[in-house]
Amino acid sequence: MDSNGAGHRRRVMHVHPTRRCNLACVHCYSWSGPEHSDSQSASLLSQAIREAARLGYQIVSFSGGEPLLFRELPELLEVAKMSGLHTSVVTNGTRSTSEIWRRSLPFIDTLVLSVDGPPVMHNAVRRSPSAFRQLARAVDDLHESGSRFSLIHTLCKQSWSHIDWLHAFATDAGAQLLQLHPIEISGRAKELLDHGSAAMTALDSLELMQVYLYAQLCATAERSLRLHADVTHVDVLESCPELFFDAYGEDRSALPNPLVIEETGMLSPLSYGIDRALSCGDLRERTLLDLMQDDGASWRIRMQRHCEETRKRLLDAAEDTPIFNWYEALSAAPAPN
Ligand code: SF4
Repeated sequence: MDSNGAGHRRRVMHVHPTRRCNLACVHCYSWSGPEHSDSQSASLLSQAIREAARLGYQIVSFSGGEPLLFRELPELLEVAKMSGLHTSVVTNGTRSTSEIWRRSLPFIDTLVLSVDGPPVMHNAVRRSPSAFRQLARAVDDLHESGSRFSLIHTLCKQSWSHIDWLHAFATDAGAQLLQLHPIEISGRAKELLDHGSAAMTALDSLELMQVYLYAQLCATAERSLRLHADVTHVDVLESCPELFFDAYGEDRSALPNPLVIEETGMLSPLSYGIDRALSCGDLRERTLLDLMQDDGASWRIRMQRHCEETRKRLLDAAEDTPIFNWYEALSAAPAPN
């Protein structure tokens, strides 16, 4: 399943090995930053990656924190490749001269760099005067060396007017894909909003519709750059619920997709930081295989109820909000008791 909930269902595991980051962006949903040192052990993550491959996961994606600050990232990527997994790394693009970057690149199938808009906006969101310069250097180097990479943009009310700049930047940089991800008001973005100092606010339903139409138009155009927006129309949710979630309660072997390993070792279905009532368990206490092959696990039933209730809520609101981001909707709602 792709990141807007619709599409083919390749099984994805997201690994957040650390909350350490050299930046402290205003939209960071994991509250990462230089002051955080909490990381997970490489041996626990290696075992989980091998077991994920045995369970049938096909993609492992590393994000963070800044994954290129995790010393054992190259070894984890190598384990993933040896296990037959497609690998992806999401980075802020500021570490392209580091030893970890150099050693990781040969094992990365999909490298994704985040961009927040033109230089002034990017540096303001990243809270760093040099963030854009470092990102631009990374994409230049990748382009010159003929490496394939994608760009991801966290879309908000303030950045929507820069969509043409983003499109041109991604095209000129030689990116294969520009992914537009509507901002999730969680983590640091929520904290700033709660304190009345939000630098980025969520798109309203009209703007979401414009994003959806823009992505549809780009999909039909003959361009070297693919554009993907993490939004879906409720008609798809109504007619094809199986594209959005498995029948967890009926199929006792169903696996969460995506599955998320947080830096604490907590195993979350669907998205980082989702309501703890939906957690699949703790890798510090039980192995991934053990947790996923537990027929009696109650998280499947709770997850199915949560998905069904979220689907109903979205369909009820369809007249006012026909376009939505499935994972944001799941994260925003409280889990069933
Ligand atoms: S959004 Fe990414 S780059 Fe920014 S603080 Fe969070 S982990 Fe670091």
